Amino acid sequence: MKVEHIGIAVRNCQDANQLFEKLLGAGPYKAEKVESEAVNTSFFHVGNTKIELLESTSENSAIAKFIEKKGEGIHHIAFEVADIYAEMERLRNEGFQLLNETPKRGADNKLVCFIHPKTANGVLVELCQEIKE
Ligand code: ZN
Repeated sequence: MKVEHIGIAVRNCQDANQLFEKLLGAGPYKAEKVESEAVNTSFFHVGNTKIELLESTSENSAIAKFIEKKGEGIHHIAFEVADIYAEMERLRNEGFQLLNETPKRGADNKLVCFIHPKTANGVLVELCQEIKE
């Protein structure tokens, strides 16, 4: 596994893009709307990993609820895996609670699965695997 990206919940992606551009010295290389999660995302390269900014497009989205409860900030850590089905099976057997039973299509051409923070020391963990077509 490697840290593929760190997801940060923001109220406004455009404002956050400017701030992270100042912080990192380079702008986002990609912006993508993910309808299934009701979010706008933008991605920044940081060395071998990435920062994903997440802005809600609906008041019912997971990101809107997160910000309402905790405010802006680190939302999840994503680990890249070679075989997401095998990792999901392995982690399920280790007692982690998976938030989706089958991988979902996420941003950035990835299959993703989330692990409930209550079974991971309060950290929302995303497993992701690049979709090869
Ligand atoms: Zn993510």
